[in-house]
Amino acid sequence: MSRFLSKRYSELVPYVPGEQPADPSGVVKLNTNESPFPPSEAALFYAGGHARSYNLYSDPDANELCEVFAKTVGAERDQVLAGNGSDELLNFAFMAFCDDGRPALFPDITYGFYTVFASLNRVPQVRIPLADDFSLNVDDYINRKGTAYIANPNAPTGIALPPSEIEKIAAAKPDDIVVVDEAYADFGAQSCVPLTRKYGNLLVIMTFSKSRSMAGARLGFAIGNKALISDMNTIKYSINPYNVNSYTQALGIGTLLDGDYTKNCIADIITNREYTVKALRGLGFELTDSKANFLFARHPRMSGTKLYKKLAERKILVRHFGAERIDDYLRISIGSRSQMEKLIKALAEILVEENAGGGTR
Ligand code: PMP
Repeated sequence: MSRFLSKRYSELVPYVPGEQPADPSGVVKLNTNESPFPPSEAALFYAGGHARSYNLYSDPDANELCEVFAKTVGAERDQVLAGNGSDELLNFAFMAFCDDGRPALFPDITYGFYTVFASLNRVPQVRIPLADDFSLNVDDYINRKGTAYIANPNAPTGIALPPSEIEKIAAAKPDDIVVVDEAYADFGAQSCVPLTRKYGNLLVIMTFSKSRSMAGARLGFAIGNKALISDMNTIKYSINPYNVNSYTQALGIGTLLDGDYTKNCIADIITNREYTVKALRGLGFELTDSKANFLFARHPRMSGTKLYKKLAERKILVRHFGAERIDDYLRISIGSRSQMEKLIKALAEILVEENAGGGTR
């Protein structure tokens, strides 16, 4: 830290993203929940045609993209806002809807960026413990004043709540906002977007980084009633009007126009998830009921740290958080079938070695 850093940020502990190896060839990369599939060919072709206009700023409202997106999710144009990845929109939502009187409420085990956004914006935060089985009790949120941030499915547990549960919070606290982060909803949870028409205090955040294969292009959306989106725009136009670059806007439109490709990618991921769950259970792993494009697993005979290291030695990257309550768990992204087969083969070998060595956790 230099002596010039504002005191405002001297205590800030930044988010640590998963490792992005400089040369990913030869690495089985299952650590950041990316899609193993490239963007659709049709989308890439569509976006390539727009390169000539890079001398001009991008459309600050991303109008064409937002129109196509709104139609796809069954919302009105003025109910949506595009962002530079969903992280940017989540930060806008912390800036717009939290203050000293409205703390940020979120589970003790959830997406690690929520606590960073709360600290960055210097708003109070209340971390509400999940139950022992990592389930979330909505009463904990109903009985507290503040803006709720709920990832559904949750990360890194993958456990999903039905929209009817989230609706209870929005209905019980009409003066508090509920932000639902649906980064992983396409893989098996039901979306709360239809509820945004009924509740003026419900904001849904989505990303194109997972099911739509666009993590590197950075695209996310906020969906909520017109007034909430207008508040989010006030923040956006005070930071970066051109937050979504022209290439990404075009790739996003192309991706939405090729909906079948996305559907097929999601179906493949779900099939690979089912294969991996079965194979991991066969090896003695315990898993949460993940509805996301990742699994959350532990082995009763080996620590999370050791499993993580042994996999890394074999060039298989998974995520180990080393945090309270989840130290023995690994978060494993679902990749292609061959990547998952490599993972299972490596884990089987690691467990055989461990058995031979008598098992030291
Ligand atoms: N929400 C959750 C729960 C996530 O896991 C992630 C991915 N790290 C994000 C939001 C952010 O995704 P992006 O900024 O790539 O849209």
